[in-house]
Amino acid sequence: MRPQGVALLGATGSIGASTLAVIGRHPERFVLRAITAHSSAPALASLAARWAPAFVGLVSTAPTASAQAEWTRGPEALIAAATRADVDVVVNAVVGAAGLDATLAALRAGKRVALANKESLVVGGALVLEAARAGGGTIIPVDSEHSAILQCLHPRGAAAVRRLIITASGGPFRQWESARIATATREDALKHPTWSMGAKITVDSASLANKALEVIEAHHLFGVPYDRIEVVVHPQSVVHSMVEFHDGSVVAQLGVPSMELPVLYALSHPERLADAGVPRYDPVASGALTFEAVRRREFPMLDLGISAGRRGGAAPAVFNAANEAAVAAFLTGRCAFGRIAEVVGAALDRLGDAPHATRDALMAADAAARTFVEEQL
Ligand code: NAD
Ligand code: MG
Repeated sequence: MRPQGVALLGATGSIGASTLAVIGRHPERFVLRAITAHSSAPALASLAARWAPAFVGLVSTAPTASAQAEWTRGPEALIAAATRADVDVVVNAVVGAAGLDATLAALRAGKRVALANKESLVVGGALVLEAARAGGGTIIPVDSEHSAILQCLHPRGAAAVRRLIITASGGPFRQWESARIATATREDALKHPTWSMGAKITVDSASLANKALEVIEAHHLFGVPYDRIEVVVHPQSVVHSMVEFHDGSVVAQLGVPSMELPVLYALSHPERLADAGVPRYDPVASGALTFEAVRRREFPMLDLGISAGRRGGAAPAVFNAANEAAVAAFLTGRCAFGRIAEVVGAALDRLGDAPHATRDALMAADAAARTFVEEQL
């Protein structure tokens, strides 16, 4: 079998590193054709030297000594990488709504998209599904919960599903009181108990905004209505999610918390590749698996995000953009942790019914939400 050509968008990030580790173990199956990064030119240059892909793209156009003359520069680099003729699979590991256009372009070009960039589906759900229909592309989730659900559903799909149960680690503030959460520092929020990830998703995991994004993502990916998607806290991050079927049977997917597992599955689905690089699960050594209810009052971002999903239209895009802006401000010391939910809630009140029929309308709602949050801070 000819190896699959892979474009890796966001190659210098956390999912980027997991993807390169998986590809490196399966050179007979995957060949890296294109890599992109936002602004970390030195890191991109060392990946380019190590992997020698045909295409290297750097989104930032700021002058840098590390960039090579043959690199493609600017935001168009993402779409150029995602639509290349020698690319079969696009791993979208960009963070934030900045990943949307590449997802749309890849699907319209008929590619398989291994989607880590959940924000694509949150912001542009209907447009993304339409792009896949129009171009014949397919979306395979990389997010561990959605990979778990896909594996539980395979091969029969979502027809006999009664309920999706998405697990959440609970993050570093799982047992904290509200007042302490409200004044949590950057260092506190970046101390994730079970997963090592980029800064934005780590903060989202601390506020549970990430779980709201994942509920919306699951709604679009599997076509399951919101009242049949539940969230449960599972501190060990071993059960990655569960599916309850109409007959009452519940199927769960387990594995150690390593993103290499869902990346590998997204690249090989519906096959399974033998892989000795992913850590093995030892049920006895791993010990007790526990579950508890989400403390919804202490983590208001969860219900804010889910209600934005239910409201539909521009609301999920506004929720996402306001959250991105507030998290960026939190990470640079301009916004208290407790303020994140306040400004995101205010942005939804103000802008949640903005026009949403096209990509440009959604991006206008996204921009308005970011401006609104900056004004509030
Ligand atoms: P990260 O911050 O480690 O890496 C982000 C990558 O995207 C970098 O290569 C960066 O150069 C690039 N990038 C950033 N802004 C960009 C922009 N505006 N335009 C183009 N490229 C840009 O993030 P990550 O943790 O790897 O997460 C990436 C995506 O995967 C996010 O959507 C996240 O929610 C999702 N995800 C991550 C994990 C994880 O374990 N890290 C798990 C599940 C889902
Ligand atoms: Mg996840």
